[in-house]
Amino acid sequence: MDGETFIKTLVDEVLAQYLHGQEQICGCERCREKIAALTFDALAKNRYVTDQKNHPSRRVQGVDGQLKIEAIRELSKIAPGFKKTSCH
Ligand SMILES: [Zn+2]
Repeated sequence: MDGETFIKTLVDEVLAQYLHGQEQICGCERCREKIAALTFDALAKNRYVTDQKNHPSRRVQGVDGQLKIEAIRELSKIAPGFKKTSCH
């Protein structure tokens, strides 16, 4: 699994858990995709991926726990912009 795929999988997982407890945030497919993409961008910008996109990255996989915490932190900044009432 390359670094990018790894992050996308992680973001999906964290997002599913996050939305579960957030009734005000829209969980429709369109919003979920947008939230996931923004979270992915934030994480990718914060570190690594860009220069090793197509190669397996041990560094990325090695920081699983920390990356997950970062993903949750970014999500909690991004997701509140997608409230059920405000986006559509
Ligand atoms: Zn929506």
